[in-house]
Amino acid sequence: MNASSTPFPPLILPRSEHSISRAAISPNALKVLYRLKEAGYQGFLVGGAVRDLLLGITPKDFDVATNALPEEVRRLFRNCRLIGRRFRLAHVHFGNEIIEVATFRAAAAPEREDIEEADPDSESDGAESARAEPIEPAPTYDSEHRAFDRTGRILRDNIYGTIEEDVWRRDFAANGLYYSIEDFSIWDFVDGVRDVQARRLKLIGDPETRYREDPVRMLRAVRFAAKLDFSIEPETEAPLAKLAYLLDGVPPARLFDECLKLFLSGFGLKAYRLLQKYGLFAHLFPLSAAAFALPPYAYAQEMVERGLINTDERIAADKAVTPTFLFAVLLWSAVLRELNERQAGPTPDLAQLMQACDTVLRAQQSRVAIPRRFGIPMRELLMLQPRFSRRSGVKCLSLLQHPRFRAAYDFLLLRAQVGVADPELAKWWTDIQVLPQEERVALVQARPAEPLAEGAGGAAPGRRRRRRRRGGAART
Ligand code: ATP
Ligand code: MG
Repeated sequence: MNASSTPFPPLILPRSEHSISRAAISPNALKVLYRLKEAGYQGFLVGGAVRDLLLGITPKDFDVATNALPEEVRRLFRNCRLIGRRFRLAHVHFGNEIIEVATFRAAAAPEREDIEEADPDSESDGAESARAEPIEPAPTYDSEHRAFDRTGRILRDNIYGTIEEDVWRRDFAANGLYYSIEDFSIWDFVDGVRDVQARRLKLIGDPETRYREDPVRMLRAVRFAAKLDFSIEPETEAPLAKLAYLLDGVPPARLFDECLKLFLSGFGLKAYRLLQKYGLFAHLFPLSAAAFALPPYAYAQEMVERGLINTDERIAADKAVTPTFLFAVLLWSAVLRELNERQAGPTPDLAQLMQACDTVLRAQQSRVAIPRRFGIPMRELLMLQPRFSRRSGVKCLSLLQHPRFRAAYDFLLLRAQVGVADPELAKWWTDIQVLPQEERVALVQARPAEPLAEGAGGAAPGRRRRRRRRGGAART
């Protein structure tokens, strides 16, 4: 994989032979590229932006690669921040848009994941973020960019490199293209243009080695396949199921970010099905996967699929989506299973439901770290489910005022759709929302008194299954 010692020439596609027009490139990215060029450096648009432009899609972000060192980049731009300590990246800020400028990386340079360790309660929404805390004690660098550990031992003296080295650490050939600002040509070292045209994802180098270097590449394969409708080339696809377990060693905060990109970007259903197909899902949500496999919770798979269809539709319609709802849908069956295991009487109380939520959330943190700002509202949403069963007495109307009512109601609808909540109950809560207050009061006063909770919100699988006594059927 390390081809740095044998640089080989890229295939250079002149402007006349490709479709990328500067009009489709972010003006801010162009500004950065031109400024680098004027200062005598190489400037390339790289990665997903080149791929997407070739496909005729608007890129999510525009990343730049250069031979200028991070400090040199900083000197060129007033609006520039350096992030990361081992491998420094320059973020050039233009209002809301950040152009990430990375110096070409040498083969021995740390991978991106080495500089990313998220704080689960940071304000990130999962988008490309500026968080960049090192996992290990950070080495220090001298002016020649040599890295030293605490005892002063030289760790690396070649973290920055050339474009010929940089290309080999990229993941898929389709992501390994460089668009030069010098003459608007595309530099292709890895047959990436052919892969984009064939809509194919092929890892650069030996797939198993590349997945072992960074298991998140397995999730990236799924993400790009789902998002771009690309196929995964057989050799890149083959090791997925075998290596899925490697996800267990990835920092949970990084997996949280990846989950948001997989499930909340408009192609969640497709991504979910691919994660299941390759056995990756069980390594992200082990408790959910275990519950799905048990007959009483088999419906939960359909619930996840329907939830993701709704989410994809909302994104297509430019409506807001929240991780809170997503994780509620993904973890519901695991919570019910936990509840059923700890439940003493036939009707679980709210305290038990809360404990079940907490147990599942806590266990989930070791795989996908769900920040408290999503975990707490998720628990609230689930805790409101039993309250929908009560429709008598004026007190039950306070549910309509609860800040989490809307999400909890959407969740009730989803449960009704998959047959674990009474559709009549869901309709009642739909109808009452549009009534004036006097009519709401009249409606609830007309109903006979009802118990608070029946199962966990009346969910059939939440009801405790009566254990048949041994030989009981024969004895009469
Ligand atoms: P998106 O459309 O989601 O932005 P992208 O391809 O631009 O897709 P980014 O996560 O923005 O993906 O990364 C930019 C580029 O950096 C990638 O195209 C790829 O070349 C490289 N890259 C990112 N993450 C990795 C990784 N884990 N391993 C190898 N290369 C990576
Ligand atoms: Mg990108």
